[in-house]
Amino acid sequence: MFYQPKDIQKALGLKAELKERGAFLAGGTDLVVLMNHGKAAPENFIDLTHIPELRAIHKHNGTLELAGNVTYAQMGKLPIRCLARASLSVGGPGIRELGTIAGNLATASPAGDGSTALLALDAEVELTSVRGTRRLPLEEFFLGYRKTALAPDEMITKIFIPTNYQTDWAKNGKRGAMNISIVAVAVAITPKKEVRIALASVAATPIRCYQAEKFLAKNGLTTETIRQAVQSVRGEIKPITDHRASADYKVHVSGVMVRRLLESLVKQ
Ligand SMILES: Cc1cc2nc3c(=O)[nH]c(=O)nc-3n(C[C@H](O)[C@H](O)[C@H](O)COP(=O)(O)OP(=O)(O)OC[C@H]3O[C@@H](n4cnc5c(N)ncnc54)[C@H](O)[C@@H]3O)c2cc1C
Repeated sequence: MFYQPKDIQKALGLKAELKERGAFLAGGTDLVVLMNHGKAAPENFIDLTHIPELRAIHKHNGTLELAGNVTYAQMGKLPIRCLARASLSVGGPGIRELGTIAGNLATASPAGDGSTALLALDAEVELTSVRGTRRLPLEEFFLGYRKTALAPDEMITKIFIPTNYQTDWAKNGKRGAMNISIVAVAVAITPKKEVRIALASVAATPIRCYQAEKFLAKNGLTTETIRQAVQSVRGEIKPITDHRASADYKVHVSGVMVRRLLESLVKQ
């Protein structure tokens, strides 16, 4: 069956009833690809594209609230550099009109660009079901390779982001568009001058480099401390060799990207 609920409550009611037998469908840019490859075959679809509430963006007290199915095209216009740049690096214009941030989070690809930018921003996700609502730091949402904390009846309804972090983003890939990253990096400096470093495509999920972050929080941001933090990043990541690049290359280029981004943030 193909359901087209017009509000969140109806969609949640359907998901509670169908659980694993029903898949939410947003942009379809992951789900349909999986179906084409024979890796997913949902019995029922719950189409979320007729629920305007899931596309809303609000700002409250310095926090940006993105509804779950805000698209990359929408996020590309936000004044949050790492998220806007990550969004504009996804696919091409067509994919960015369709693809949504909740789809990126729920898919939990190690290469998720939006997911990685949100990790650097200390984002929190709101997960809602007919049982109620819970709010989770994004760090606790990714449990392993394509595994998340989403229960079978839950929807990603909101994402909360601070607006006062200084951030940046870089992606290394084989071409400029329609490009899954070899490595992508998001960095942020909080108002308390704490540093966040998140990377894509170097582990089973998008990850933060906590040791490097702690080192910089303790020792400050200088050319020398950044050099040492880069060594820590290279030790913390666990990339694999695949058709895109060797593990050694990913370790090397991750360090270069983190160093360049941090140095440019310090200069701003
Ligand atoms: C040509 C191409 C290029 C791409 N390039 C990139 C790229 O550069 N970087 C990148 O990161 N990704 C890329 N992608 C992957 C994809 O665009 C993203 O992961 C996108 O964010 C998925 O969102 P969607 O709305 O299309 O999700 P869908 O495909 O509709 O759904 C994906 C999963 O999320 C679930 N879901 C959707 N909404 C919700 C919700 N509100 N709550 C709970 N679960 C939900 C679905 O049930 C499904 O399991 C690309 C894809 C294609 C086809």
